[in-house]
Amino acid sequence: MKVYNFSAGPAMMPPEVVAQIQAELVSYRDSEMSVMEISHRSVLYEEMFQTAKADLRELLAVPKDYKILFLQGGASTQFTTVPLNLARKTKNIAFVDTGHWSQTAIADARLVPERRVDVVASGKSSAYTHLPHEIALDRPYDYVHLTINNTIEGTMYRKLPELQGQTIVGDISSNILGYQHNVQKYGLLYASAQKNIGPAGMTLVIVKESLLDKEQDLPSMLDYVKLIKRDSNLNTPPVFPIYAAGLVFQWLKKQGGVKQMQQQNEAKTALLYDMLDNSKLFLGTAHAPDRSLTNVPFTTGSKELDEKFITQAEKNGLKNIRGHVLAGGMRASMYNAFPFEGVKALVDFMKAFEQKER
Ligand code: PMP
Repeated sequence: MKVYNFSAGPAMMPPEVVAQIQAELVSYRDSEMSVMEISHRSVLYEEMFQTAKADLRELLAVPKDYKILFLQGGASTQFTTVPLNLARKTKNIAFVDTGHWSQTAIADARLVPERRVDVVASGKSSAYTHLPHEIALDRPYDYVHLTINNTIEGTMYRKLPELQGQTIVGDISSNILGYQHNVQKYGLLYASAQKNIGPAGMTLVIVKESLLDKEQDLPSMLDYVKLIKRDSNLNTPPVFPIYAAGLVFQWLKKQGGVKQMQQQNEAKTALLYDMLDNSKLFLGTAHAPDRSLTNVPFTTGSKELDEKFITQAEKNGLKNIRGHVLAGGMRASMYNAFPFEGVKALVDFMKAFEQKER
């Protein structure tokens, strides 16, 4: 039976890349050593890292005055690192509350001493099915934080809200490389790897260097200035996830880059959204203009029926379709590596289920 993996993360990787990893796992570039065994100070590693970094810069069209960091600790560590590094002038931070991951980022920012954290807009009144687009700022902020794609709620900002020229920090964990983000509109972007890139264990930070305070002296692993100076090699970097990410970047370039990925993601989600919009049983939970291109939550409205659907879907090879524990229902995550045929299989299965259950 063909299996389609709808996991929100760790998520499926391009099968070609997984096969390549298998083929060269025992001897990386004829070194007779596995990539897991090479030194992070070796020429082999340095070449691999610089290629991955250059490919990512090309794929995301990162301008020269932005630095790219490959870090550890997941996107969650950035909830602390960003305020430490970027909230140093006014020490005021504005957050837009778009659901679970923004709330987690808000809670951690509040633990950073001497910062004022304001929630300047919230999607709460719509149960986070809608994104706030009108945002009023009544004091200067060091930055405004937006969770650009909300993995659990299935919403995404296609157009950034008007923020009076304030620096924007974006969490793009669940749609990095799947949507054409305009890096220049941000002061900083961050994303963990395990959704749209590769194995967990690596986090990307893209930061406009002029925003950093060269005089700052933070604990080393949380200090962008020190990390940039050592080119993400301040301690032992996550060599294997960086290697796998590098292969995914090369795969992406062969596929036609982010533009092509976005087109494919539009086509994949359109098929599912069209089914949901015309269904008499299933309901997509996110407000149509704010819908995500990667994560689609939906429900029948009945817990029992959702459970029945999930059980039957699993048996039919549609794996990990259960919604996040906080949201319930179902969720289909379809990142770059997820094939169109998988969405078709899901839609066909939903249609058959609807016929039987209505
Ligand atoms: N932000 C978003 C939007 C996420 O989806 C996630 C993970 N699901 C995180 C942050 C946290 O990422 P990590 O587990 O890498 O810390």
